[in-house]
Amino acid sequence: MEKDNDKIAKLRDRLVYSKKLVWDSLTKEENIDVENFCRSYKNFLDVAKTERLAVIEIIKQAKDNGFEKYEYGKSQPKYYIDMKNKNVALVVKGSESALKGVRLIASHVDSPRLDLKQNPLYEDTEIAFLKTHYYGGIKKYQWLSRPMALYGHVILNNGETLDVAIGDGHDDPVFTISDILPHLARKQREKKLTDAFEAEKMNLVIGSRPVPDSDKDVKERIKLNILSILNEKYGLVEEDFISSEFEVVPVGKAADVGLDRSMIGAYGQDDRICAFTSLKALLETSNPDRTSIAIFYDKEEIGSDGATGAKSRFIEIVMSNILKDEDIVPDTGNILDAMSMSMALSADVNGAFDPDYPEVHEKRNAAMLGYGVCVTKFTGSGGKYGANDADAEYVGWIRNLFNKDSIVWQTGELGKIDEGGGGTIAKFLASHNIAVIDCGPSLLSMHAPFELSSKGDIFMAYKAYKSFLNAK
Ligand code: MN
Ligand code: MN
Repeated sequence: MEKDNDKIAKLRDRLVYSKKLVWDSLTKEENIDVENFCRSYKNFLDVAKTERLAVIEIIKQAKDNGFEKYEYGKSQPKYYIDMKNKNVALVVKGSESALKGVRLIASHVDSPRLDLKQNPLYEDTEIAFLKTHYYGGIKKYQWLSRPMALYGHVILNNGETLDVAIGDGHDDPVFTISDILPHLARKQREKKLTDAFEAEKMNLVIGSRPVPDSDKDVKERIKLNILSILNEKYGLVEEDFISSEFEVVPVGKAADVGLDRSMIGAYGQDDRICAFTSLKALLETSNPDRTSIAIFYDKEEIGSDGATGAKSRFIEIVMSNILKDEDIVPDTGNILDAMSMSMALSADVNGAFDPDYPEVHEKRNAAMLGYGVCVTKFTGSGGKYGANDADAEYVGWIRNLFNKDSIVWQTGELGKIDEGGGGTIAKFLASHNIAVIDCGPSLLSMHAPFELSSKGDIFMAYKAYKSFLNAK
């Protein structure tokens, strides 16, 4: 009897697929590595609260690791190519020509947030407000009655630029959007969630004190006081808002979550979690066979349009520069040859199975927090509409690679069929005939002001990206 049970257990082990929890596979030393790695990840999140700041930090770390700005004819082993301060590619030259294909990991550094409108400042009932316009997919109620910070990039009338950051510094004032008290929210409660919170009511409280020494009958003296503070501290006038980008983001630093400190909670983990892990993987790659690239895109959260998004021709510019560096004519034929021989990971997050809301997931095919980096064969919605849907050949190559390199990984589909859906930049890379698949950690509370990740998954994403860049 005993023997038969043994046989069945062996049969099960051999035949049945089961996911692995990252924590079960880590050695004592690796547990320390995870903590150290996640400490620098949290620092990255704290300094990279906007796409511009992320690009600045990525270029800084690249330079610290011997990367130089791309210059034709200079023969650089490691270089970076940036685009309009919002989009950057890091390149490590391989021993093989790029015509044989490159290894590319592409993530995005923009996150859901509130932008200021171009004419944002007004006063109502002795309170000054800034009007906002939300960016990306948000559940509006999550952004009310919480402390918010302002990050601004302003082009002044004389052409000079000015960067402003208020809210995350020591002793900084913060801002907030008000919500109705529950006592008076009877009608709001009866509304559908989509109607209950209106974007035009998401106005940021910025002040309530009149300009000093003003007469009671001076018009808009609260607003005037705000303008006078902005002018005194930063030299700004109201028209400067028109040529500015102000982003309103949650105040606060990334934090360990849980008594066991197994998770990280922070704003902007979609997709700076992949930006950071792919950055580290690339910085630690030297003399690879294939030219290795990490691209950090902007605009993913609003559909990848725009000159700094994945629908732009930035990837062609990068490829063209790589070919020129190898003294290969970067004509259309050569660029297409290089692209169609290339392999890519679309490094983006997936929604983790939430035990409080099992009804939106299909448990057998959902990514689980802590079960490693998630490989997502397709995204899209409905009948796989708008999906890249990587082919079995490419999934097979990835599976073999990750298993060989002892990466703890899983597969996951974003939610139940017809429950909703979403996309990544995978399909825009695929439109250049690059083999591509989505690969990244899964998050709880994705797109919320405080997103939750597993430290084990973060570490496995980093290991998976390294394994991909160094694969033969
Ligand atoms: Mn994303
Ligand atoms: Mn997103």
